[in-house]
Amino acid sequence: MQTNRSSLTKRLAEHTVYDIAVIGGGATGLGVALDAAARGFSVVLVESHDFAKGTSSRATKLVHGGVRYLAQGNISLVREALHERTTLLANAPHLAQPLAFVMPSYKFWEAPFYGVGLKMYDALAGKAGLGATEFLNRDETLALLPNSKKDGPGGQLKGGVKYWDGQFDDARLALALARTAVTKGALLVNYCAATGLIHEGGKVTGLHVKDVETGKAYDIKAKSVINATGVWVDQFRMEDGRAIGRDVKAMVAPSQGVHIVVDRSFLPGNHAMLIPKTADGRVLFAVPWLGKTILGTTDTPRDNVVREPLAFKQEVDFILTESARYLTKAPTTADIKSIWVGLRPLVKPADDDGDNTKGLSREHTILVSKSGLVTVTGGKWTTYRAMAEDVMDKCFAADLLPAKPGGVTTDLKLIGAQAATHGISDAPGIHLYGSEAAAVLALPGAQNELGGGLTEAMVRFAARFEYARRVEDVLARRSRLLFLDAGLAKSLAAPVAVLLQQETAVDPALGAFLQLCDQYLHLPD
Ligand SMILES: Cc1cc2nc3c(=O)[nH]c(=O)nc-3n(C[C@H](O)[C@H](O)[C@H](O)COP(=O)(O)OP(=O)(O)OC[C@H]3O[C@@H](n4cnc5c(N)ncnc54)[C@H](O)[C@@H]3O)c2cc1C
Repeated sequence: MQTNRSSLTKRLAEHTVYDIAVIGGGATGLGVALDAAARGFSVVLVESHDFAKGTSSRATKLVHGGVRYLAQGNISLVREALHERTTLLANAPHLAQPLAFVMPSYKFWEAPFYGVGLKMYDALAGKAGLGATEFLNRDETLALLPNSKKDGPGGQLKGGVKYWDGQFDDARLALALARTAVTKGALLVNYCAATGLIHEGGKVTGLHVKDVETGKAYDIKAKSVINATGVWVDQFRMEDGRAIGRDVKAMVAPSQGVHIVVDRSFLPGNHAMLIPKTADGRVLFAVPWLGKTILGTTDTPRDNVVREPLAFKQEVDFILTESARYLTKAPTTADIKSIWVGLRPLVKPADDDGDNTKGLSREHTILVSKSGLVTVTGGKWTTYRAMAEDVMDKCFAADLLPAKPGGVTTDLKLIGAQAATHGISDAPGIHLYGSEAAAVLALPGAQNELGGGLTEAMVRFAARFEYARRVEDVLARRSRLLFLDAGLAKSLAAPVAVLLQQETAVDPALGAFLQLCDQYLHLPD
């Protein structure tokens, strides 16, 4: 379906009372939009920037059951995440695939200790298992992780444990959710900010929104309003509280996670590496992704939630220092291709909007305020689908909507779904379009590669079918080059801008993107 901007905004002006209006086009909001539309509700979603511009393009890219929750004894959470892992891998195989992880062990107790936990992980997965956990000897470990140190922290390499989880392309998955929701009748508009809530008689009945491109304001009426703005949810919760005379305290305590990207030669092969306990007790991953290696992440509290957070020097130092403890050929600052930062919406305990519904399940939180504003935050990408079902259940329980049966997205294939021909760990290319590859190849410039696997036709496809408006949309989220190699992304920005302008006739914000590339290349002092 073509994404014609003027027809999208024209629909915003129609006097419809939607069943659901969603604020925020990250994993959470898009998941809700898709679930609601698939159940036959009328849905509108507005995103102030681009889909997945927030946390949802900045994940470690793992589709995982959450081994660490197992260590905390949270069996039901792990079981559900494992179930969701299977669902996601089945519904978007072109964007989400199994990935084997190896945990090298340098102390005699590590492999048996972690291996037993991972065997339990397999047992919990049951039929949803992707492969059995295996104990590896030293040579087998080196064969799968050829760059791991033979003499590492705590002594000689003893062996390792191999287990299975999944990996994905988060921003492209977000787009697939958005576009699949559109096929179910939802109206989704990016670069359209919610500027305020509409209240009538103490109830929230809609939104004020503004088209960021034209500055034009619209009012949207809806029976239920879902605040799915990630780390930004408190803004609307507090506005809601003021409108109905209730004192609302912030529920989100943001924490940032930094990733650095280096060449694949630092992690040859097709296996990710997991360091279960770094020098300061954290977890570190080295993940092969789209032809490069992601190293991360960190967990640093922050009190301001900016759109493009900067990494702190100690975070980059931590990742490089820890990597050097385990890798023979270790990356240095000179090897960094891109540094990106995501904000986790961690939910403070014991917050409440009053005497109303408070749902704390898995790691996400859903609150229904006195006015009926539904706020959902926390959780993880992997469980977006289950979170959406929970949001719908809360809407029914609060009598915001008539109940309709759930489970409609369990087997719903996302747009482009097709058996994978390449791994997500392979360099980017036309395979990431799945069953839409032929449509991309039919556009002008299919053979004109600009660089990094991005062709002229892909840029045109992004503008015509994938909601891309700005150079950043193409080079950060349709293609992932900003995240993979910010220097290369910068060098392709000008030709992408020319193509986008041909397609959309709007300013593609080239200057802002060039600055962003510098930020992703910047080493913190
Ligand atoms: C460092 C890090 C690594 C992670 N790794 C993993 C992983 O490997 N696997 C996994 O499963 N999960 C992972 N997660 C968790 C996962 O990324 C998040 O749970 C998920 O992306 C949150 O999505 P969201 O939609 O709630 O928030 P967001 O993606 O931030 O979406 C909120 C959206 O709301 C929009 N918005 C804000 N204000 C307005 C407004 N006024 N009007 C309209 N729109 C607005 C924002 O622009 C944004 O796009 C990770 C998280 C972090 C931080």
